[in-house]
Amino acid sequence: MNVGYSREDEDFRATVRDWFETHFPRFKAQWPTRPDPNELGWRRAWEDHVCQAGWSGLGWPQAYGGKAWPLTRQAIFHEEQARIGAPLGVNIIGHGILAPTLIHFASEAQKQRYLPGILSNREIWCQGYSEPGAGSDLASLATRAERRGDHYVLNGHKIWTSFAHIADYCFVLARTDPAAQRHKGISFLLVDMKSPGVRVAPIRQITGEADFNEVFFEDVRVPLDALVGEENGGWRLAMAAASFERGTYFIPRQVRFAQEIEALKRLAAETPHAEGGSALQDPHTRRDIARLAVDSHVLKLKSWRALTHAMRGGPPGPEGSSTKLHWSESHQKLMNMAVEMMGERALAGPAPGGADPQAAGWMRDYLWTRAETILAGTSEVQRNILAEQMLGLPKN
Ligand SMILES: Cc1cc2nc3c(=O)[nH]c(=O)nc-3n(C[C@H](O)[C@H](O)[C@H](O)COP(=O)(O)OP(=O)(O)OC[C@H]3O[C@@H](n4cnc5c(N)ncnc54)[C@H](O)[C@@H]3O)c2cc1C
Repeated sequence: MNVGYSREDEDFRATVRDWFETHFPRFKAQWPTRPDPNELGWRRAWEDHVCQAGWSGLGWPQAYGGKAWPLTRQAIFHEEQARIGAPLGVNIIGHGILAPTLIHFASEAQKQRYLPGILSNREIWCQGYSEPGAGSDLASLATRAERRGDHYVLNGHKIWTSFAHIADYCFVLARTDPAAQRHKGISFLLVDMKSPGVRVAPIRQITGEADFNEVFFEDVRVPLDALVGEENGGWRLAMAAASFERGTYFIPRQVRFAQEIEALKRLAAETPHAEGGSALQDPHTRRDIARLAVDSHVLKLKSWRALTHAMRGGPPGPEGSSTKLHWSESHQKLMNMAVEMMGERALAGPAPGGADPQAAGWMRDYLWTRAETILAGTSEVQRNILAEQMLGLPKN
């Protein structure tokens, strides 16, 4: 068995690496302040720069301005971008979830209208699925879209909508046939966030940031041509969109996880141990770091296995749940270790710009990892999927 990338792919990697190594340090040096990797302005500016340099639409057909790269090259691009320490973008939902959904399901007019804004990063998207009464059980959503002449009238309340406060558009799941079975009366609508009747209320997270929001739709007029696919056929699109989300989502995260293990080792080497020497000499710490290194390696192999499966044309299966579960829970373990190791330094809190920026960075990431076992399907839900679909255990 040959595990790894081909020679041609490694040559391609060298080109991409060269670009990032030239452009990222230069871009960073021109930024007026010391960039905070989580600050949305910085994330957006770098994402704009990358897209405008032409590194966008990586997997899209060339007819829509894309590069039509195979998944291996997309993976290499994301690996190299993470390796250089570049921030994650703010239009990840537009690029990673909506664009492939439009390419598969939208009308030609919709593709011509919406894809260029994502390609150039001019238009930011958010995803309006979850509601106060519909999270894991998404099909119980209650937002309504009633057809009236040439438009729908949208009413409802979405929650946890990442980036809604900076988004230009939102793709919304709304019930268009309340009499139909739960999954069958739902439609997939593209909603302009500047429409009258859209109200966004940011939610402050435990990290102090406010990256997600409540979104209220009050008698919002949505033109009929903003419906993607068939009316009442939105569930199929939502499921396909979820599988695109899992595509290359873990590649940069898995690279960062390996980098964070190295950072944890440095933290351990700098942290005095109560019995003398450093925390890195403590056998329990060494064992736990070794376990994380094994997790990191297994996650890399899982990503490669998923890539191989996708390249052979296989549909996304329950393996994605295994990667999500493994990554989010291992990441929490890593951050727990860092915070325990820092001891009272952790009391500095997560705000950047304080007296101990290193401790604040770890604290911010520690607090943020609480969300990772919830977003994109909670750990309990992933375990249900694995139990039923991989292990064949009976439902409920
Ligand atoms: C940082 C972050 C960003 C997000 N961004 C978005 C976004 O952009 N757009 C969007 O639409 N949503 C977004 N979400 C929402 C996310 O999809 C939901 O939080 C998630 O699906 C869980 O739904 P819930 O919060 O309603 O919890 P619930 O579904 O109410 O779950 C509550 C608890 O019950 C457990 N549970 C539920 N059902 C079962 C079951 N069948 N078996 C066992 N246990 C169960 C859950 O595991 C959990 O512990 C985001 C969430 C986070 C944390």
